[in-house]
Amino acid sequence: MKDYDEIVKQIAGCTLCALSERRNRTVPGDGSVNSEIMFIGEAPGYNEDQQGLPFVGAAGNVLTELLAGIGLRRADVYITNMVKCRPPNNRDPMSGEIEACSTYLDAQIALIDPKVIVTLGRYSFAKFFPGRTISRERGKPRMWRGRMVYPMYHPAATLHNPRLRPALEDDFRNLPQLVAEVIALPDDTASEDETPPEQQMSLF
Ligand code: SF4
Repeated sequence: MKDYDEIVKQIAGCTLCALSERRNRTVPGDGSVNSEIMFIGEAPGYNEDQQGLPFVGAAGNVLTELLAGIGLRRADVYITNMVKCRPPNNRDPMSGEIEACSTYLDAQIALIDPKVIVTLGRYSFAKFFPGRTISRERGKPRMWRGRMVYPMYHPAATLHNPRLRPALEDDFRNLPQLVAEVIALPDDTASEDETPPEQQMSLF
């Protein structure tokens, strides 16, 4: 896809924020640009920075395992992060960095046009629904500008706190049905920025 290649090229040369100074490689995203499902994590870590691919370290193994559990391969979905360059020492991305990088993420969302956006962790959830708590909202799908946003814990969180793993597994298990439901929605059903709670999809 020509336009996608252009986004990747722009990211590769980007110096919009200070994360460009210490990166080894940019990490634009990976997977199918024709997928109905986009996963958005937080930021590249050491392995991602080395390989130029998202979710290839320990957290990536968790993501790959969970995808396999619902019959999906990484190549069946699109995977990216809020910021495309590794923050030093794997610190959290700062708001200015997220803001600077949002141009690329917004372009990816517009181009790939996923029906379902799975947010992994609090940073990507906050892009769509700021001020909400991931521990309260995870597993609850909401409509946002014609797409379903489905918040989950970040796979890395389950490595630090294995008690979160069952919740992440539950949320993955529900994903195929949610995707089928949102694909079946009439176009005008999904036009609000945020569907009021009483009109939200009824799976949960
Ligand atoms: S994190 Fe994003 S905005 Fe910052 S330098 Fe990398 S590509 Fe550019």
